[in-house]
Amino acid sequence: MFTHYIRFSFDGKTHYGQLQGDQVAIIAGDIFSDFELTDQIVPLESVTLLTPCQPRSIVCVGLNYRQHALEMGLQLPSEPVIFLKPQTSLLPHGGNIVYWPMVGRLDYEAELAVVIGKRCHRVSKEEAMRYIFGYTIANDVTARDLQSKDGQWTRAKSFDTFCPLGPSIVTDIDGSNLRLKAILNGQVKQDSTTADLIFNIPQLVSFISHVLTLHPGDVILTGTPSGVGPMQVGDEIRIEIEGLGHLINRVVAP
Ligand code: MG
Repeated sequence: MFTHYIRFSFDGKTHYGQLQGDQVAIIAGDIFSDFELTDQIVPLESVTLLTPCQPRSIVCVGLNYRQHALEMGLQLPSEPVIFLKPQTSLLPHGGNIVYWPMVGRLDYEAELAVVIGKRCHRVSKEEAMRYIFGYTIANDVTARDLQSKDGQWTRAKSFDTFCPLGPSIVTDIDGSNLRLKAILNGQVKQDSTTADLIFNIPQLVSFISHVLTLHPGDVILTGTPSGVGPMQVGDEIRIEIEGLGHLINRVVAP
């Protein structure tokens, strides 16, 4: 059995918890250091979900699915292309993605997110898996028009609400062959598997850790498969990953 950890507010306080069906066992402490399950159990429907962790770095990988690269007529990259999203872009499951006036085309990108468990600096591919706490779901929301207009990606990727993340972190799952889908208003738009990654998870953790030190709770968005496309105000975007559940957000006007 996989373990699902969530972070949530309840009774005016923020907690980590462990999912037990439609109930949550409240955790005392921090899931990234010492913690224990308390005997306090509350119904899932009574809590307000937050993003499952609070990364100090959100590291993203561009162009990391073979099929997507081929579809775009691009050569496979020789090393990962990485960029960052700010903490201010984070959005929990159920939160609203804002279609800001500066944006001309707002795209979804379904991505598997790796959650780091231990401080990680210059680790090898062979060691990398030991630094992973678990996995969650991300939507790398992108202002596609600004991505090409600016020539670099900071503005296009960084607007507030552009990093939906969650709903839970799942541990003890093998991330190397998970089916992932983006479903827009009930229509499947992306449907692939993490087995199609150009750079696999240990390669990404190792590569990124040679650039910046990764800390507990940091996340790596591993790239998106073919089928990206635009969203409109009123749309519901659902990202599903096998074993991890689904991440649902709605697009709203400011
Ligand atoms: Mg992406």
